[in-house]
Amino acid sequence: MEIEIINIGSELMLGRVLNTHQQFLCSQLANLGFVVNRQLAISDEGLIIKNAIRESLGRADLIITTGGLGPTSDDITRDLIAELLGRKLQFDPEVLARIETFFAQRKRRMPDSTKVQALVPEGAQVLQNANGTAPGLAMEINPTVTDRRYKTLLVMLPGPPRELRPMFLDQVVPLLANHFPQQAKFVCRTLKTTGLGESFVEEKIAGRLKELTAQKIELGYCARVGEVDVRLVARGAEAEIHVAQAEQIICECLDQYIFGNNDDSLEETVVRLLVKQKQTLALAESCTGGFIANRITNVPGASEIFINGIVTYSNESKQRLLGVREETLAQHGAVSEATVREMAEGARQKSKTDFALAVTGIAGPGGGTEEKPVGTVFIALATSEKTTVQHHVFQYDRETFKFVTSQTALDLLRREMVDSSKRQ
Ligand code: ATP
Ligand code: MG
Repeated sequence: MEIEIINIGSELMLGRVLNTHQQFLCSQLANLGFVVNRQLAISDEGLIIKNAIRESLGRADLIITTGGLGPTSDDITRDLIAELLGRKLQFDPEVLARIETFFAQRKRRMPDSTKVQALVPEGAQVLQNANGTAPGLAMEINPTVTDRRYKTLLVMLPGPPRELRPMFLDQVVPLLANHFPQQAKFVCRTLKTTGLGESFVEEKIAGRLKELTAQKIELGYCARVGEVDVRLVARGAEAEIHVAQAEQIICECLDQYIFGNNDDSLEETVVRLLVKQKQTLALAESCTGGFIANRITNVPGASEIFINGIVTYSNESKQRLLGVREETLAQHGAVSEATVREMAEGARQKSKTDFALAVTGIAGPGGGTEEKPVGTVFIALATSEKTTVQHHVFQYDRETFKFVTSQTALDLLRREMVDSSKRQ
């Protein structure tokens, strides 16, 4: 089966918007067993759009376009596709009523130009837009090549991500299941790891998975800063069994390096564990400037476990807000094992939490010394029993440095919780 994605928008060509639809659609489709063969990004120009769609229609079973369904003069996808396929645009009163309600509910006047969004090409199915006005459209088209198994399905989705994503998940996914009933069962699972580089991950698991990877499963790695995903895919009646077998082997080999699966994030896992164990967290951040608190509070339900985060950037604030001693700072410096230890213990005492994480480091580009080069970071975790300190050198740009530091700190806490629950 041939699948193509066409991302339409001059803003993409000007580099003003990152083409996140490409990643979102490709990954969502891949998880369902639909692997995209080709993806094209093009500007909002009539001839270019028409040519791109005409070419895709000659090859693909499924074509998904994004963007250009809005009310402005540069939104021409709907018109061009209708013209190209020789289908009349028909006014759909139901779509118009829905758009009118959208504006009425928000107590906003409806601009006249919005009405074009109620024009639907003949024979097209309307995909309702719960978060905006432009509906998506899906059309079945007789393939130009006769040996095709399916009719070509052309799906048009609106540009704004908060409109496109729910529309895809709620409406396009069921449509795909109907239109392309897949014979072979497809199972895909991603195991998410942190704390090991990609080659080490492979080294630990590849040998023991040989028999399964020979024919039963596909194994893939995706390395990002601070994380490596291990992706397992299997097809056929036994797919679930084969993936489960591989998963078991990987869990044995990678054990504590695995923090979750599929779309889990490390912060979600940490919050979930804290909620489950009914334990609370405080943060004392210097070089991450509140980034760890940001990650924690991105998780719904964080208020159950997160008491406070204190950003102490200056030495004075480390003393005043966390009780770090002047002598400690004078003797060891702000970026030191002794200081981070006092930061974590101070935060824990003052916030009356079960755990406190503290970080202090030199993000750079300036501020490094021979003894403490740029990238030096100390991370501490204080619990009721002990304080653990880690010392790392993360040599990245400032933003990546903050991410890697936050990742390492969150993982230190996660591992402590996993260990302590095993001890009980
Ligand atoms: P609208 O009704 O908002 O005009 P539309 O369907 O016409 O929607 P566009 O005008 O193409 O869509 O895009 C609207 C906005 O959606 C863009 O300004 C951009 O911020 C975002 N967007 C469009 N395409 C993409 C893409 N491929 N990846 C990420 N964001 C995108
Ligand atoms: Mg637009």
